[in-house]
Amino acid sequence: MALKAVRKDVHFDDIETRPINSRRLYQEGKLHHIVKNAYKRAPSVREMMDKAKAKPSNISTIKSLEKLPITRKTDLIELQKSKPPYGGFLTVKPQKIERIFISPGPIYEPLHSSKIKWFAQSFWAAGFRKGDIVLNTFTYHLSPAGTLFHEALRHCGATVVVTGTGNTEIQIQTMRDLKVNGFVGTPSFLMTLIKKAEEMGLNFRNDFALERAWFTGEMLSPSVRKTLEEDYGIDTRQAYAVTEPGGAIAYECARKSGLHLMDDYIVEIVDPVTGKQLKPGEVGEIVVTPIHNKAWGLIRFGTGDLSSLITEKCLCGRTSYRLSGILGRTGDAVKVRGMFVVARQADEVIMSSDTVSRYQLAVNRTDQRDELTLKAELKDETTDRTKLANDLNEKFQSVCRVKIDKIEFLKPGTLPEKYQKISDERKWD
Ligand SMILES: [Zn+2]
Repeated sequence: MALKAVRKDVHFDDIETRPINSRRLYQEGKLHHIVKNAYKRAPSVREMMDKAKAKPSNISTIKSLEKLPITRKTDLIELQKSKPPYGGFLTVKPQKIERIFISPGPIYEPLHSSKIKWFAQSFWAAGFRKGDIVLNTFTYHLSPAGTLFHEALRHCGATVVVTGTGNTEIQIQTMRDLKVNGFVGTPSFLMTLIKKAEEMGLNFRNDFALERAWFTGEMLSPSVRKTLEEDYGIDTRQAYAVTEPGGAIAYECARKSGLHLMDDYIVEIVDPVTGKQLKPGEVGEIVVTPIHNKAWGLIRFGTGDLSSLITEKCLCGRTSYRLSGILGRTGDAVKVRGMFVVARQADEVIMSSDTVSRYQLAVNRTDQRDELTLKAELKDETTDRTKLANDLNEKFQSVCRVKIDKIEFLKPGTLPEKYQKISDERKWD
């Protein structure tokens, strides 16, 4: 069945379609300013930069950020304990702080400006407009999510129903009574609402007016997306948001092929160990520097999430680079000959052939070289192994950027019941 209402994918403003170079210059101009300001006012930033022997004048390009170390959530928690309450990252006078958010840790995040429109691009791309009635099921207290999404929806002209989390039955009644046509929350909560409504004897497609849903905070699996779009006619969009640097970093357009980066953050994909920036297509950690929050001197925040950059222009006309998706956490990745291999990408290649039932990738080291072996259990013993091996090799190299050295086909049940999909068996002496 078709989607109920897909809005024409017009752009939020001309910033979205500006040439790549002009975006880079805009961001670098802002970066230079925030680094200078943070060095002057935020003691932790000054300490970190002095230690790295970097002066504000040295940090004026995206590439130059490599000179600075990455700050992670654990560092923030420790620093806020030793330098309460903001860990030495506050860059304005305390009386200028407009709001304070609290995220798990706890981490106190000061916000300076009350005009929050950073997420508006994302909601606009998802089709939220004036006249829409939108259920915002993110929490309105402590963490920034509810409030920030609320303001961004208002910026697109939509009317927001302030429901927050939980209260399933009230949410369902509200959706029906107010003819809610937009949903903001997690995919699993929307599925819970739909299932509950059906248990109550309602027909979700006919008795409700829901047309579009915007998700973050949780992965939208292809099967849930298919159910929502095809069975319930709801147009779905995902965004990638991280609390600590305060923002929705990337969002989907109507093409749904990767997540466009917001202009208000500098996003690097780096090797989590060395902090060096990686090439487009290479998998690494997402590192974020917000360039819009005047109160918060956070520079190079390491999210611990893995992705890769797509630099080709999107067919929607937006010129921003895209994240290929969230591929896992840094702890789940295994580095093979300089490239991070993650189970989600390997799955995409190996399981898509529909001939393999289970597999394991083993990494060994022979003569100072990493060796990658694929052990695959075949569904059907009569499969043409040579052809399958060639196909797998070719696809694996194009998606994961590293070549499989050896492929072993196994009988079903050869791999143990519990095993790691990517097994690092290297011995380092
Ligand atoms: Zn696009």
